[in-house]
Amino acid sequence: MRTEQPQTIRLTDYRQPDYLIDETHLTFELFEDHALVHSRLLMRVNGGQGALPPLVLHGQELTLQSLAFDEQPLAVGDYQVDAHSLTVQPLTKSFELVITTRIEPQNNTALEGLYKSGGMFCTQCEAEGFRKITYYLDRPDVMSRFTTTVMADRGAYPVLLSNGNLIASGEHEGGRHWATWEDPFPKPAYLFALVAGDLYRIDDSFTTMSGREVELRIYVEPENREQCAHAMDSLKRAMRWDEQMYGREYDLDIFMVVAVNDFNMGAMENKGLNIFNSSCVLAHPNTATDMAFQRVESVVAHEYFHNWSGNRVTCRDWFQLSLKEGFTVFRDSEFSADMNSRTVKRIEDVSFLRANQFAEDAGPMAHPVRPESYMEISNFYTLTIYEKGAEVVRMLHTLLGAEGFRKGSDLYFERHDGQAVTCDDFICAMEDTNGVDLTQFKRWYSQAGTPQLEIEGHYDAATSSFHLHCRQSCPPTPGQTQKLPFVIPLRMALLDANGQELPLYLAGQTQSLGTETVLAVTEAEQVFVFEQVSAAPLPSLLRGFSAPVKLAYPYSRDDRVFLAQHVDQRLLKVYRGVLADSSLDPAMVAEILRLPSEAYLIELAQQADVEAIHKVREWVRRELASALADSFRAVFQRLEEAGGSYSASAEAMARRSLRNTVLGYLMLTDSSDTLLACVRQFVEADNMTDRQAALIALVQSPHEQEKQAALEEFAQRWSAYPLVMDQWFSIQASNPLPGGLERVQALMTHPAFNIRNPNKVRALIGAFANHNLVNFHRTDGAGYRFLADRIIELNQLNPQIASRMLTPLTHWRRFDTQRQALMKTELARIMACEALSDDVYEVVSKSLN
Ligand SMILES: [Zn+2]
Repeated sequence: MRTEQPQTIRLTDYRQPDYLIDETHLTFELFEDHALVHSRLLMRVNGGQGALPPLVLHGQELTLQSLAFDEQPLAVGDYQVDAHSLTVQPLTKSFELVITTRIEPQNNTALEGLYKSGGMFCTQCEAEGFRKITYYLDRPDVMSRFTTTVMADRGAYPVLLSNGNLIASGEHEGGRHWATWEDPFPKPAYLFALVAGDLYRIDDSFTTMSGREVELRIYVEPENREQCAHAMDSLKRAMRWDEQMYGREYDLDIFMVVAVNDFNMGAMENKGLNIFNSSCVLAHPNTATDMAFQRVESVVAHEYFHNWSGNRVTCRDWFQLSLKEGFTVFRDSEFSADMNSRTVKRIEDVSFLRANQFAEDAGPMAHPVRPESYMEISNFYTLTIYEKGAEVVRMLHTLLGAEGFRKGSDLYFERHDGQAVTCDDFICAMEDTNGVDLTQFKRWYSQAGTPQLEIEGHYDAATSSFHLHCRQSCPPTPGQTQKLPFVIPLRMALLDANGQELPLYLAGQTQSLGTETVLAVTEAEQVFVFEQVSAAPLPSLLRGFSAPVKLAYPYSRDDRVFLAQHVDQRLLKVYRGVLADSSLDPAMVAEILRLPSEAYLIELAQQADVEAIHKVREWVRRELASALADSFRAVFQRLEEAGGSYSASAEAMARRSLRNTVLGYLMLTDSSDTLLACVRQFVEADNMTDRQAALIALVQSPHEQEKQAALEEFAQRWSAYPLVMDQWFSIQASNPLPGGLERVQALMTHPAFNIRNPNKVRALIGAFANHNLVNFHRTDGAGYRFLADRIIELNQLNPQIASRMLTPLTHWRRFDTQRQALMKTELARIMACEALSDDVYEVVSKSLN
């Protein structure tokens, strides 16, 4: 149990910084058992008359070696140091502050600030990691020009990197060397980065739209040099796309990406020196699945896009996190849609949002896109900030149109380049260019929860009119009992009996709106009347998921089948038709065949019966498999014949997606031919997508012998590839067959598992708790106890990861009273631990409230 509660930080308490830092000069002396950080800061008071306020610098887990003000060393007593800060009293309005701190990167298991990953030094400073490097004004609204010198042993660390351009380098005695980097663009400390290691470099270049040549470099550990081509291609495509779609070009002479094995997040957009989890850089057909290829493409693009939406224009404070993340996720998802199948990308994003973000919105950590308070900002890198934030930006795009949105973003960049701003500033730029009032729309930023939209349609034959009655509401969330109506963009059309879109005439308007329109639902209750409708139509509502809401419309069963495919009445017939039609996009067909995930079905239920959901879903899969076996076999054969050798094209990925979905169904039919085909695919596949799909099908099958053989073969062959071994862990951890917990416990002792590596934790423990629901939620509570034990262990090592692992336990309200009690018992046990981190304390205490 902790003795004091962490401080709650509130948006309403925001104050401008008392001091600013014009220049930051850093020198790092890196050694095996410590590092010395020398910092020289050119500072001045931020406006203000009268007495100079005390200067309070952030700092954690630092050993202060020396401190000087304008070249005058300070003695103990001239300053105060506590666990979180260093306070001094400036005597002049501008001054130079020189600080030396000592840190121990090799012992930094939290992976925040400067730490070692394998043999290399690297940094992660967002959100508040820089304060673990040196005393500083570690807040995003303090932007400074950085010059960084890195010194280290040349043999062990031949590559020395930091932000910006390399301006000097040289040798020191004793086999040491140094390099100095200068970043001309002022930036907050969270965008600072440093890397020192023995890395292999892949070079390329890009010519910007104004004709400037930019050097592109990807740095990886030498054994991974063959796995970078896709990341480099993705980077160049992203650079071109941002020029074409937003008119934004890159601004430094060099852009670097470094892959790191131990990393809390996916990747980090440090100015000019992006640092990536290796899982988001490395991709080779032999070792990475198509999904991994797509993830690399989107993460590389995401971090690159931040150069404008995040770095050139950054956040004033961390409550505005979605300003950069929501906008950038929207940008990267549009990029991926343009590179691949737009429809499939949208379906994937929406399924993910509905299963996971809606669950967050309904749980104890529910918060608005712009939160009002936090204890530990690391806990707010959430699906709400990222995914729902992106949906909010998408709604603006829908309401303003592509052109209006682009003009608004141009004004936003022009007006705020080099500034740290707020979500309101973003909206204001959109309002000013488009001449609209978005006051009510801004409730999406301040109100938490998933709005419900209930719609009923009534056809009046006498007047040939169709009435759409819309009613919106939003359930209470922690700290917010009453919600005001949102602006909900409702993209819709009316279909006639043949599935044709009808021209839309809204009552009182003489002009037709065309055959598809976006209605703005702004009231708690609102009626839209369409005229000149000759027969009762079928409305097609919330097209493209035009708002992140739960839609309720009393469609009949026939209506739904009709909406999915304008041909037939019964699901099986629809599936059969879809499977027989080789002209359809195979990726789309695979999406149609995939049943909703258990997580999504649990999210839909008021109180979820885990076993029933699992059993019914499995039963439906088996029914489909046996009823459609002939169609599945035909498709499998057709795609096998069309196959040919591996290609990374979108078309080839789509074919693999369908083929492997079909294989999953066929393996439920107990046919020895299919088992043989599956084993053959596992052995002969020339790519990881097919090999892994076959492995999953075998692992989830009752064929013990084939299963064990495949698992052993796989582990032997790929033991030197940590990311492939992550997949191996994850496939077994997600296996819903009985005995899941015991299998996971046994894997914890596998030599390839290491609890200090976040990717391993996610692959084994995370996959079990999030994707193996029937085993995790065992009625004896052993799954919960296992997760709580791991969280207690991780709390000491890596609080950020510990806190993220808590999510499944926070959803206890969804389950029956017996499970609720067991889950709460584990939460209480975590709460009672000594030395609980702020990260874990915040989530556990809010969950138990
Ligand atoms: Zn981001």
